[in-house]
Amino acid sequence: MKRKIHIVGNWKMNQTLASIKTFFTEFNETCAKYNNCNMWIAPQFIHIPYLQELARTRNLVKVGGQNCSHVNSGAFTGDVSAASLKDMGADFVIIGHSERRAFFQEKDEILNTKTINALNAGLKVIFCVGETLEEREADKTKAIIKGQIDKGLAKIPSNKIKDVIVAYEPVWAIGTGKNATPEQAQEVHKFIRGHINSTLKWNSDELIILYGGSVKPSNIDELLDCQDIDGALVGGASLVAADYDKLCASGNRK
Ligand code: PEP
Repeated sequence: MKRKIHIVGNWKMNQTLASIKTFFTEFNETCAKYNNCNMWIAPQFIHIPYLQELARTRNLVKVGGQNCSHVNSGAFTGDVSAASLKDMGADFVIIGHSERRAFFQEKDEILNTKTINALNAGLKVIFCVGETLEEREADKTKAIIKGQIDKGLAKIPSNKIKDVIVAYEPVWAIGTGKNATPEQAQEVHKFIRGHINSTLKWNSDELIILYGGSVKPSNIDELLDCQDIDGALVGGASLVAADYDKLCASGNRK
């Protein structure tokens, strides 16, 4: 029995009030049919209330952040805390996206602190892992992912494990148009589930593991057909209502 499919849009630093309005004018037409699929979107922080207003009219789409601070309050100019995200009605936060790791030098230890803070604030966490092309070519994929999981998901309170989602996002597949093949993705997803079970001692049968990296309407079906792929974290294709709609329709059928 497959776990419930999640289709998560990561809008990154894109969209305007006008384009968000257009998106929901189109998407709201059909999305009510997809009650078998969890539809989540992470806009820029500043757009969260507007998105909620449009998306929550029928309580169909959950809204979250793309990052949060490692602390809950204080003198951290420019940061946004998990507690504030929760306060604004966010449901989840993405932590450890490869762009945060690469451009903002976020290391596993700080990502672990962010994860624990976000969970304690009452958010669900999508924790991202993934290898670079060089690491894959050097046959280090599993070692890299093991390290990211062991450090990033250490010391999670046992009552919060159910709120953790893992996203496998090979760095070489993000925004490149070149997705991992279903076989490549399934192999890593299976490894993640097994490793979390044996090392962190979580019962990972229920763990949602998303695949991310150039997912689009033309390749989502074959990815979602894989036993250990429970949905997708989608950048580019989630910006266009018609494409996001097709992704959710696929998720709803599985
Ligand atoms: C992402 O940024 O998480 C992502 C998967 O992007 P894209 O779908 O554009 O590759």
